[in-house]
Amino acid sequence: MKDEFRELYQEIILEHNRSPRNYRKMDDCTHVLEGRNPLCGDHYIIYLKVKDDIIEDVSFEGSGCAISKASASVMSTTIKGKSLAEANEYFEIFHKLVTGEADADAYFEKAGKIAAFSGVSEFPVRVKCASLAWHTMHNALENKADKVSTE
Ligand code: ZN
Repeated sequence: MKDEFRELYQEIILEHNRSPRNYRKMDDCTHVLEGRNPLCGDHYIIYLKVKDDIIEDVSFEGSGCAISKASASVMSTTIKGKSLAEANEYFEIFHKLVTGEADADAYFEKAGKIAAFSGVSEFPVRVKCASLAWHTMHNALENKADKVSTE
C-alpha cells in the first residue's frame, strides 16, 4: 500500500470515528436494516429514504470499532443524493477494494475516501468491519433480509 493511501486511511478512520456523519435515527425512512459483525461486536442499523430511485437521505445508529463506524459514516456521505444504480456501483467498487480485487489507484479520483479503505485488504479480519455498513445498505435496498450478519 502506498504511503499516501495509508495516511489518508488513518486520517479518515480517526476523523469519521470521532465525528461520524449522518449518525442519527430516521423516523421517515423507506428502508431499514440491522447489521451485525459478531467477530468484532460491530452492530449498526442503517436507515435509507428512497424516492424516485434517488437516495434522498441515509443515516445510521449503533456501535462498533473505529473502522466499522468510519466506514458507515463514509458510506452514508458517499451514497447520499445518489441514484440506486450509483449506490450499487459504489458498493461494488468498495467490495473490490477491501478484498484486494481492485487497485486503489484506479479509483482514487472517482472515490478517494472509499479507495482509502483498500488498506483493510491487508488485514482480512478487518474486512468484515469495513464491509458491514455497505452490505447492510445494499441488502436493505434489495430487501433481502431482516438482518444482515457478516458471518
Ligand atoms: Zn469491527
